[in-house]
Amino acid sequence: MDVTDASGYPGHADQLFSPDVEQEVADLLRQASDRKFPSPPPERLPAWPAEHRPRAVGDFLARFRKLEISKGRARVGPGVLLREVQAAAANSGQFYAPDPTENTSSIGGNIAANASGSRSFRYGATRRHVLALNVAFLDGSLRTIRRGEKVDFDVPAISLPRTTKLSAGYPLQPAWI
Ligand SMILES: Cc1cc2nc3c(=O)[nH]c(=O)nc-3n(C[C@H](O)[C@H](O)[C@H](O)COP(=O)(O)OP(=O)(O)OC[C@H]3O[C@@H](n4cnc5c(N)ncnc54)[C@H](O)[C@@H]3O)c2cc1C
Repeated sequence: MDVTDASGYPGHADQLFSPDVEQEVADLLRQASDRKFPSPPPERLPAWPAEHRPRAVGDFLARFRKLEISKGRARVGPGVLLREVQAAAANSGQFYAPDPTENTSSIGGNIAANASGSRSFRYGATRRHVLALNVAFLDGSLRTIRRGEKVDFDVPAISLPRTTKLSAGYPLQPAWI
């Protein structure tokens, strides 16, 4: 199927997935990993070079939209939009500081990119505000990792870009550049 990103840039994928529950996300990641093809959310698809273009895309975010606000914290699904978190915080008399200008971005994307913006000079970028993450791994497992918790697996050395700031995706150097 042909797809476009928000700027109208075209791309193509053979399959589209729209999982309902976390375990489905993890299962899809495991399948993609077993078959050795990348499966990022669709927004990123057209930007991928042809040889790395995913053969399947997952609208992973669309159905993960839980948003619960309590005093000093929020439990937020990765598909919730930044503007929804900002509004929910304000409605409860609180303030969610990270504001990378584009408030239609998702919280999952904000965390992945460590989105910042001018308010981060005072309050820090997005990751500073993360207390815990529910993570789906490529082997199909799901884990909750809390701030400060040591992970019991090796983190591969992946190079960082030659810029001091990058929030157009994961802040890592892609292998093909
Ligand atoms: C007009 C504009 C102005 C901006 N200004 C700023 C700025 O001032 N400062 C700043 O820091 N940033 C800025 N940004 C960048 C912005 O912070 C990012 O585009 C945004 O945080 C990414 O969120 P998204 O939902 O669009 O994610 P996407 O673009 O969909 O994804 C971004 C990356 O995160 C990954 N990802 C997304 N969701 C998940 C998930 N749930 N789990 C794991 N990985 C995931 C994707 O695979 C991709 O690699 C700006 C963007 C725009 C469009």
